[in-house]
Amino acid sequence: MSLADIVGRLNAAERAAGRAEGSVTLIAVSKVQPLERVEAVLAEGHRVFGENYVQEAAGKWPELKERFAGVSVHMIGPLQTNKAKAAVELFDAIHTLDRPSLAQKLARLADARGTCPELFIQVNTGSEPQKAGVLPGDVDGFIADCRGLGLPLSGLMCIPPEDADSTPHFAMLADIAERNGLAGLSMGMSADFAAAVAAGATHVRVGSAIFGARDYR
Ligand SMILES: *Cc1c(COP(=O)(O)O)cnc(C)c1O
Repeated sequence: MSLADIVGRLNAAERAAGRAEGSVTLIAVSKVQPLERVEAVLAEGHRVFGENYVQEAAGKWPELKERFAGVSVHMIGPLQTNKAKAAVELFDAIHTLDRPSLAQKLARLADARGTCPELFIQVNTGSEPQKAGVLPGDVDGFIADCRGLGLPLSGLMCIPPEDADSTPHFAMLADIAERNGLAGLSMGMSADFAAAVAAGATHVRVGSAIFGARDYR
C-alpha cells in the first residue's frame, strides 16, 4: 500500500457513500515510523498527520513544520494531564479528550493562550474496561460539561473493539454526535476506513496501510 492507493480507496468509499471526493480528512498516522517514510509522504504532498506520543511528536514535527508548509498534526493517543500544555503547543487537533480533569486543564490553557486545538471527545463505544474514552452513558453529560467550560468541540472519536465488526460502533458514534449537534466524526483505521466513511466519518486515521507495518523495537 501507499499514500496514492489509500487516497484512491478513500475517494472510492466517498463516491460509494454519495459524498464528495476529498470531503473526508485523511490523517496519516506516522507514530513510530522512520523519518524517511514520513518525509516521503510529505514530499508526495500530504499534509495531515497523526501521532500518539507527545514526546515523539515534539522531536519530529516542529522541524518538519518549518520545512513543509501547511502541515497539521493531530494527537490521537492517550493524553496525560501533565502533558496537556506541551500538547496544545504542538498539536492542531486533539482526538482523545476523555475525562473532566483533562477538560479543565485544556480550558485553562485555552484561556491563557487565547486559542485551542480542535477537540474531539473519545468515546469508549464498546465499554471496554482497559480502553480509554468516555462511556456511552456518560457522554451527553461530558459534552455539556465541556461546553460549560467554553471548550470548542469539533466532534467525537472512537476505536472499536479489536476483532469485532466496527459498523455498529461507527453508527453509535454518529448517533451520539447527531443528538449533541457535533459535526466531526473521527473513526476508521487501516482495516475499516471504508466502512467508517459509509457511516459518516469526517476524519479517518490510517497508519500501517500508508506507511507499512510499525516496528516497535
Ligand atoms: C495507531 C492508530 C491508528 C492507525 O492504525 P493503523 O491500523 O495502522 O491504521 C489509528 N488510530 C489510533 C487511535 C491509533 O492509535
